[in-house]
Amino acid sequence: MAGMRAMVLERPGSPLVLRERPVPTPGAGEILLEIAACGVCRTDLHLVDGELPDPKLPIVPGHEIVGRVAELGAGVNGLDVKGLTVKSLVLGERVGVPWLGHTCQACAYCRDGRENLCDAPLFTGYTRDGGYATHVVADARFCFPLTGSSDDAETAPLLCAGLIGWRSYRMAGEGRALGLYGFGAAAHILAQVAAWQGRRVYAFTRAGDVAAQSLAKSLGAVWAGGSEEAPPEPLDAAIIFAPVGALVPLALKAVKKGGRVVCGGIHMSDIPSFPYRDLWEERQIVSVANLTREDAHEFLAIAPQAGVKTTVTRYPLVEANAALADLRQGRIQGAAVLIP
Ligand SMILES: [Zn+2]
Ligand SMILES: [Zn+2]
Repeated sequence: MAGMRAMVLERPGSPLVLRERPVPTPGAGEILLEIAACGVCRTDLHLVDGELPDPKLPIVPGHEIVGRVAELGAGVNGLDVKGLTVKSLVLGERVGVPWLGHTCQACAYCRDGRENLCDAPLFTGYTRDGGYATHVVADARFCFPLTGSSDDAETAPLLCAGLIGWRSYRMAGEGRALGLYGFGAAAHILAQVAAWQGRRVYAFTRAGDVAAQSLAKSLGAVWAGGSEEAPPEPLDAAIIFAPVGALVPLALKAVKKGGRVVCGGIHMSDIPSFPYRDLWEERQIVSVANLTREDAHEFLAIAPQAGVKTTVTRYPLVEANAALADLRQGRIQGAAVLIP
């Protein structure tokens, strides 16, 4: 096989560079994928900006990968994972690769069904090479057959914005009034699921971001406004997707007694201090880390039922730096997706 192309982060704080490499060979339990699309996640921005500790360098970012199986490593078919049925993968099959790239299956968290907190994990596009490329090798046990929308670019954002969004959503509980702070890739997916489930979605954006607010309303939000505004009714729960710590005390003020504020991102600016009375009455602040494969199976089944349709902006792979810049500047409605 000829070489592959990848956009590589060699040093945090510097732009990605296009590199040609030999196509890697999948090891035991791994598959080689020919990538069709890879979503651009805010986590990639944090990685490029050096806000995440200890990346493997050089690293190919990208953990919302849609691709087709090009080669099977030894032992992939018939692979069995305790508690989860893993479908055998076949050549040419369309699969998705998420952020969670590998877990140890041995630590207390893995044994306890909380592999999202594994002590020795690998993360796609952070500690193992990801999808800003034409090819990637992935652990077959962490790849998911994709049966929903046949559009590869529109499917890619489901792999992180969808999956970790879904984990955040479940963490928010069953309340009917739900606030979403930061109406980007994750919120634009979750709003559709929440509306489908009959919840009232309140979308909070940067003040004056009329485009994001009208996208939110078109996707089922009953109200959209600036983050500083009080919602028309007290919220049962709020999920913060924007990496802005100042939103935590704001969201806390917007939730009712017993309400919960879920921080859905991997990195956030510092949270300013706030009066204890804003937390009192059993309000809670929690964070969400990573995902389990169970989250993925659940969400990938629910998304098509809920009729989730993503809004995407496509960029050629070599324009990855432009896509990241647009995400940083808040110029993207929905999600950015790289096409090799
Ligand atoms: Zn992500
Ligand atoms: Zn583990």
